[in-house]
Amino acid sequence: MTDGHDLLLRRAEVDGRGLVDVRVVAGVIAEIGTRLAGRGEDVLDARGGALLPGLCDHHLHLHALAAAERSVRCGPPSVVGPDALAEALAHAPADEHGWVRGVGYSEDVAGPLDATALDRLHATRPVRIQHRSGALWMVNTAGARALGLGGAGHPGVERDAGARPTGRLWRADDWLRARLPGTRPPDLRHVGSRLARLGITHLTDATPDLDASALDAIGEAMRTGALPQRVHLLGAPLGWAAPSGQRSATVGPYKIVLADSALPGLDVLSDRIRAAHAAGRAVAVHCVTREALVLLLVAGVRAGDRIEHAALVPGELIARLRALGLVVVTQPGFIADRGDDYLRDVPAVDRSDLYRARSLVDGGVPCALASDAPYGPVDPWTVIDAAVRRCTPAGQVAGAAEGLTARQALDAYLGAPDDPGGTPRTVAPGAPADLVLLHVSRADALARPSADLVAATVIAGAVCG
Ligand SMILES: [Zn+2]
Repeated sequence: MTDGHDLLLRRAEVDGRGLVDVRVVAGVIAEIGTRLAGRGEDVLDARGGALLPGLCDHHLHLHALAAAERSVRCGPPSVVGPDALAEALAHAPADEHGWVRGVGYSEDVAGPLDATALDRLHATRPVRIQHRSGALWMVNTAGARALGLGGAGHPGVERDAGARPTGRLWRADDWLRARLPGTRPPDLRHVGSRLARLGITHLTDATPDLDASALDAIGEAMRTGALPQRVHLLGAPLGWAAPSGQRSATVGPYKIVLADSALPGLDVLSDRIRAAHAAGRAVAVHCVTREALVLLLVAGVRAGDRIEHAALVPGELIARLRALGLVVVTQPGFIADRGDDYLRDVPAVDRSDLYRARSLVDGGVPCALASDAPYGPVDPWTVIDAAVRRCTPAGQVAGAAEGLTARQALDAYLGAPDDPGGTPRTVAPGAPADLVLLHVSRADALARPSADLVAATVIAGAVCG
């Protein structure tokens, strides 16, 4: 980095030990010592707080997160029951094209939604609501008409026995985006500053099949500083290379989605994995069910490939994951967000397989943490707390045996973007000055993880949160 900043951090706790000063030159940690002489650079007094490597969210969705911030929440805790949903939709502002956009829907609120059911809640304006899984959009009749759903050829457009569209669209985001007016990706400035306030300096965007406009928008947000974080992309097409320059994204493993509802044939999956490997990319495979995992393990995955979510891992497969050299990127934040639903819906016999973490780590499988925001809580401290306590919203514990120590959970946010679950980055001379400063010691933060403890976030020596 030559566009980095100079900075002198005073009185910081580094690696849990006594207080030191940390000098940053041109965005890189140059020197750590006691009472370093100032050279006229900006000074940040840490007041004894812990200075950690900045956190890396290893799996989130930038544009969906930005869009969710401008959408009406359609699920708990904000909305419980059909009346509350109708009320929320009635008060939701429409976008400039007259659409109401909802996110986070759960069937707990008003059962399965199709166009007819949605009309009963809101019929006057076109409405589209995303299921909290991210896999399904539901539109009302006005929305179906605006989209021309009757003549749609996309296989994800659900139809009833009479071949009429039901208003439910499965994994059809690209099609939907192309049909909607004004398709510029949403601005990322607010997301960038929100992530910085949480202590996040690195992120991996896990959106599959990023198109040119999304890639351009992310690149532009990085260049202008709207998005200060370092960005790793799983959804860049095979053969895509980031434009060279100081601030551009890096290309990670190639994202493949195994849809929970319709698994591909083994040949089709093996071909996709082989093509990614041939192009020099590992793969990062969305894999939620046991069936998907079993399929994936015989489809030609190899060391360095990633499993995203790994929501259900039978214990007898852990040794196989290790033998294959696979990495798991998982989201215990889902337990904090909807763990009671899991306890209700997941058969008792499978519960010990749910969002494993400790048994993976103990079994030698690298395990990184992530938010999957906006589908899971974005706050890494909430996720760390959930990884440790595995507490549901109602205060139940889901899989106590899978709890990580707080230190393990923090470390699972400190791997480099290209080494999730690997050796935690450190605050040491020669390392990029991508740092998070806390108000308290590391030990205190680990005892009570909270975003309120973040005092400042530093990226390439610049204080940005
Ligand atoms: Zn995701």
